[in-house]
Amino acid sequence: MNIILLGAPGAGKGTQAEVICDRLNIPTISTGNIIREALKTGTEMGLKAKSFMEAGQLVPDEVVIGIIKERLAKDDCQNGFILDGFPRTIPQAEALDKMGIEINKVIDIEVSDEAIMKRMSGRRVCEKCGASYHVEYKRPAKDGVCDSCAGALVQRKDDHPDTVKARLEVYHNETEPLKDYYDRQGKLSVVEGQDTVESTTALILKAIEA
Ligand code: ADP
Ligand code: ZN
Repeated sequence: MNIILLGAPGAGKGTQAEVICDRLNIPTISTGNIIREALKTGTEMGLKAKSFMEAGQLVPDEVVIGIIKERLAKDDCQNGFILDGFPRTIPQAEALDKMGIEINKVIDIEVSDEAIMKRMSGRRVCEKCGASYHVEYKRPAKDGVCDSCAGALVQRKDDHPDTVKARLEVYHNETEPLKDYYDRQGKLSVVEGQDTVESTTALILKAIEA
């Protein structure tokens, strides 16, 4: 099963991707995490992406398309995968189609901009492994410490309110048209983001099985 998770930044794609990945036993591919990793290790791609990312802008299509091509060619993707944060533009979706990769389901997680602004301020990520947490909705067992790797939990630079506004604008302009794109292919399921991770997961699993 090849699945795409769509939704605004902060709609919960990353969290849901982790859960579904465990349930279906297929890998999650998060372009955001791959780019952040490249940034940390200081690769050329990371350097190219840095300024865009920190300003809440999209990294150029050719960069992310290259990343995805390389990642999807790996063995662990052959039985299916979950894409979290890709595609984010029509050209990215077209590139995926051109790679000859068949997408089975596209799940769009809907959350209002207002709710997103609220959520993002509480979001924390593990500095080491990238796992995401929330000071209210998804607390780690020990404050400030990652449950899975004991790394430190930090706020991402691009989770600051002004940057979140910019990211939402980019989302509405560039990414939202993908709903139509996949609806026309008969692949889109819309799920309303719920107040708890578990209830959103339940809706997503139902949509996947439908
Ligand atoms: P979120 O889903 O919370 O917005 P991500 O971690 O998916 O965050 O992405 C963070 C940033 O990484 C984006 O704002 C953008 O700069 C860059 N990025 C990630 N995926 C893509 C993509 N498919 N196309 C362009 N830029 C991307
Ligand atoms: Zn961790």
